[in-house]
Amino acid sequence: MAKQSSVLLIYTGGTIGMIEDAHTGELKPFDFRSLTKQIPELTKFDIHLSAISFENPIDSSNMHPDVWVELAGIVKKNYNLYDGFVILHGSDTMSFTASALSFMLENLDKPVVLTGSQLPIGMIRTDGKENLITSIEIAGTKSKGKAIVREVCIYFEYKLYRGNRTIKYNSLHFDAFRSPNYPTLAEAGVSISYNTNALLKHTGKVLKVHTNLENDIAVLKLFPGISRQITSAILQSPGLKAVILETFGSGNASTEPWFLNEIKQTIAREIIILNITQCSEGKVMQGKYETSSQLKKLGVIGGADLTFESAVAKLMFLLGQKLTKTQIKKKLLENLRGELSN
Ligand code: ASP
Repeated sequence: MAKQSSVLLIYTGGTIGMIEDAHTGELKPFDFRSLTKQIPELTKFDIHLSAISFENPIDSSNMHPDVWVELAGIVKKNYNLYDGFVILHGSDTMSFTASALSFMLENLDKPVVLTGSQLPIGMIRTDGKENLITSIEIAGTKSKGKAIVREVCIYFEYKLYRGNRTIKYNSLHFDAFRSPNYPTLAEAGVSISYNTNALLKHTGKVLKVHTNLENDIAVLKLFPGISRQITSAILQSPGLKAVILETFGSGNASTEPWFLNEIKQTIAREIIILNITQCSEGKVMQGKYETSSQLKKLGVIGGADLTFESAVAKLMFLLGQKLTKTQIKKKLLENLRGELSN
């Protein structure tokens, strides 16, 4: 008989474990022990389930790289004890956390599934129960003794996504996430159907956990009429190491001399500029239009189809490694954890 799978559930906070304050009506985190009471189905699983909770659960809008370090540490400490991990997390910044963990957990050979819900678990119409139950099932699923999923994912509303490809797309629908540039990894219907070709293959190397992240980055989202003053203020921020430049369409930006000069001066100060598109689907192709050729010539790095969330996480991760600026620029162009299409 196959050995029973074991899954570690990590509760960080979010709507899934929230209740309504009787006086103010506001949603706020509640004691995790009540969560297991809310879902008696959890005891019926043929999966050994253990659960831990953050002492102070947070709304994910308070998420911070220090918490990512804590989560990566929990996975590292328990890696050999469990077959898979489920992280309960607020949906607001779930894509950032999933992206960050994907870079921090190098050579991952087990599933790390993030999930949450749009309605608290105690509500009759909650989406939390299905999200949680299926996430646990995915985290505990093996084929011939090996994990099927070996990456950081998000499971929400019957779909499993590669975490670093997701965006939170809808704040009202149960179907809250999208993976605009990469297929879903699995769909849950009567059974869970895995898209085996889309899943990451194991590297065959041992897990390496990276916990050094640097957040000296800024975002410059372009819009027609953006002022020189605001642009300079962002690009000349003290301590800045990298900038995410959110451009139009396939990576295009204004060709006004003052703007290009600001970009040139920023790169001359050894600050990395990563170009990603404001479109949720498609990719940056520097050089396709005249309005992006200049950026390429000046040394702006094309982010291809990297999501904003993944760009933030990848930069924090790479800046935290002991790499030269040239090495960081090279790695930004490489597909490290399935975050970029070739
Ligand atoms: N504000 C909540 C959070 O992200 C929303 C949710 O849980 O989905 O923590």
